[in-house]
Amino acid sequence: MQQKKGIAILGSTGSIGTQALEVIEAYPEHFDLQIITANKNADLLIQQAIKHQPNTVVIADEDLFGKVKDALWDHDIHVYAGEDALSQVVESNEVNIVLTAMVGYAGLKPTLAAIRAKKNIALANKETLVVAGELITKEAFENGVNIYPVDSEHSAIFQCLVGEFQNPIEKIYLTASGGPFRGFSIEQLKAVTKAQALDHPNWNMGAKITIDSASMMNKGLEVIEARWLFNLKPSQIDVIVHPQSIVHSLVQFEDGCMKAQMGLPDMKLPIQYALTYPERLPTNFPRFNFMDYPELTFEQPDKTTFANLQLAYDVLEMGGVASCALNAANEIAVKAFLEDRISFLDITRINSETLNSISNIQRPSIEDYVETDILARKIATGFLG
Ligand code: NDP
Repeated sequence: MQQKKGIAILGSTGSIGTQALEVIEAYPEHFDLQIITANKNADLLIQQAIKHQPNTVVIADEDLFGKVKDALWDHDIHVYAGEDALSQVVESNEVNIVLTAMVGYAGLKPTLAAIRAKKNIALANKETLVVAGELITKEAFENGVNIYPVDSEHSAIFQCLVGEFQNPIEKIYLTASGGPFRGFSIEQLKAVTKAQALDHPNWNMGAKITIDSASMMNKGLEVIEARWLFNLKPSQIDVIVHPQSIVHSLVQFEDGCMKAQMGLPDMKLPIQYALTYPERLPTNFPRFNFMDYPELTFEQPDKTTFANLQLAYDVLEMGGVASCALNAANEIAVKAFLEDRISFLDITRINSETLNSISNIQRPSIEDYVETDILARKIATGFLG
């Protein structure tokens, strides 16, 4: 009998985190849930802890420590609070894989701590690679750590590469649904609302990534993520709009062969594959029916109207801390948009103006990333108007 894998889920109360718990619950013989964490949603964290009985829970917001501790006092569960605790608990000897399902820059430090503790990473938190891809991939290599992608496009590429590790990639195509505003002009985008931006046609996700999908920033972040995960040049990464979200991405090899990975859009599949690789476990997820999709269509992305996608290519060319600054500006802008403080098109404006205001640092250290993040947030906040 194979040993169970000890799992830590950072961000168990989010969209990816809750789906990961469903996956883990379905295979008790494969997984041993060790750690779950949340930022502020103490109620759901407590419910999850009582149901799934992990070894440890962490609530990042220290003010909520008492509430979580009291609720779990008669369970054999360790309770910690605070940002630093996130980085400490992942070092536990019982943890084999850390699923980084928290949103935003906050994922960077615990992911780095997990890598340094030689834990394999199931990476949903793409912002970690966007902020510090150079450092993270170097540390993962030096510590003999594997990073298994959870993002459906990167999981697709990863699955296409199984058995192909000797064969160089000529190019990859990341597919994009195009989001709720596919085909819109700048004029039309001026009038879009938050409710429209949050209404993604194919995927049900957390608020930040849903807005990023509407602005095409998500695809831009994925281009940067792919650059680091698969060690590619920007010119080897292409984006193709595929509104049905059935082809999850494609790899083109040097002989011209293209491999695609397909299936119904369901994040549980890439989450599960990241946790069970190289094994595939049977599931009862709904199956794809060709007759439901008689047409799969593909279009060029509009990088002029959706300039965030172009910004992602620009920061890859700039290197250094440029993509860290872009990520910080985007987090500030998306938060302000969700708080009804700016319009949809302001997101791209703030991203672009922040990038133009930052001085780049090549071959950055972790401190350079941290300082750039702080500075870019300050600059972006100034541009909110
Ligand atoms: P959600 O907003 O649904 O969940 C975010 C999780 O992170 C919650 O558990 C939240 O806790 C926690 N969290 C938020 N801020 C902090 C913080 N400062 N410190 C500690 N924990 C924090 O996000 P998603 O699940 O949608 O996305 C998570 C990551 O996965 C993102 O990086 C996203 O880009 C990526 N991803 C998501 C996909 C999806 O389908 N949702 C698809 C592919 C990638 P709390 O509930 O307490 O706020």
